[in-house]
Amino acid sequence: VVSKLPSVGTTIFTKMSALAAEKGAINLSQGFPDFPPDARLLQRASQAILTGNNQYSPMTGLPILRDAVANLIERHYDRTVSALDEITITSGASEAIFDAITAVVHQDDEVILFDPAYDLYEPAVTLAGGICKRVTLMAPDFRPDWHAFEALLTDKTRLVLINTPHNPTGSCWLAEDLESLWQAIASRDIYVLSDEVYEFIHYGESAVSVHKHAELAARSFVVSSFGKSFHLTGWKVGYVVAPVALTAELRKVHQFVTFCTATPLQQALAEHLLELPEESAHLATFYRQKRDVLRKALGNSRFTLLPCEGTYFQLLDYSDISDLDDVAFCEWLVDHVGVAAIPVSVFYQQPPENQRVIRLCFAKEESTLLDAAQRLSQL
Ligand code: PMP
Ligand code: GLN
Repeated sequence: VVSKLPSVGTTIFTKMSALAAEKGAINLSQGFPDFPPDARLLQRASQAILTGNNQYSPMTGLPILRDAVANLIERHYDRTVSALDEITITSGASEAIFDAITAVVHQDDEVILFDPAYDLYEPAVTLAGGICKRVTLMAPDFRPDWHAFEALLTDKTRLVLINTPHNPTGSCWLAEDLESLWQAIASRDIYVLSDEVYEFIHYGESAVSVHKHAELAARSFVVSSFGKSFHLTGWKVGYVVAPVALTAELRKVHQFVTFCTATPLQQALAEHLLELPEESAHLATFYRQKRDVLRKALGNSRFTLLPCEGTYFQLLDYSDISDLDDVAFCEWLVDHVGVAAIPVSVFYQQPPENQRVIRLCFAKEESTLLDAAQRLSQL
């Protein structure tokens, strides 16, 4: 087989979760909660199955779920979007991202990413025939250098992929970053794909969102995931909001990738959102407490904690502990300490030299976090 993705192997998430299971380590690598979702949602999903919601949903998503998403966006961002032709329900944010890239990136188009970047972006661009250009974000705050960004713009630039709150760094952009992005691309024929799956998991005043920037929103796909917002990563239900013309192109792809997303899960989420429309507003408080438990428990360790403004990921610098590179260090951690983490270098095309940083997921029971922190503090 002549591979279309010769430099791609198995994702680091699959590898580290498998290693953690094999060695019996505490798994703070792949990002997923170790606690159950709201029992009422599980009840609703069971009910939806038992009461016959088991055939294809409309290709664009169940109307009641699209209405609920429109409502969510209206309340959180004061933005009015059409549930009919600006919202599409997808099989996770992953599918939405893949569909959007496939829909707008032509052969040899250039796409700008910010490194470290979530692992799905580049392969999707490559499969579409596009070429990735990268702006490197630097520790400790990982905010973009807009001059470096502008230097990458050419007549071939078609798409910019942004992600805030940011995986893997836990950093968040400011409103002025979105404005700088807009100023840089306003006069060009460029679209934006804004990955906002951690939109409700931010620890500042309020999260920056493309939904709040009208001009950018008119050019953008904004993607989110119920997996993150309701502790249901295995349900793989996400959504994408985009202006009518972009949505029409995205749906051309979506209808042939999956056609639609699991109907009973859409039904359960719609009913839940209708009954508890404010629930996602509490997510930040919920995760802030977990973040603080982990940070406090690691306070006397030899790791240096980087700032965490959003997401459920905490970065740790281990330069004072080991000279190993981060992939080797993570393997060593599983074996010798019994904790699985993610090496941050895998999210870069060209990792900064001598950066020794790993990512821990704190979407875990307090007891899991304390147990892991105790082990890590012995180093
Ligand atoms: N983007 C980012 C930044 C993520 O962390 C994730 C989580 N896995 C996704 C996209 C994909 O989300 P989903 O599981 O809904 O496909
Ligand atoms: N988004 C999750 C993380 O960053 C992983 C999802 C996956 O395994 N594909 O850990």
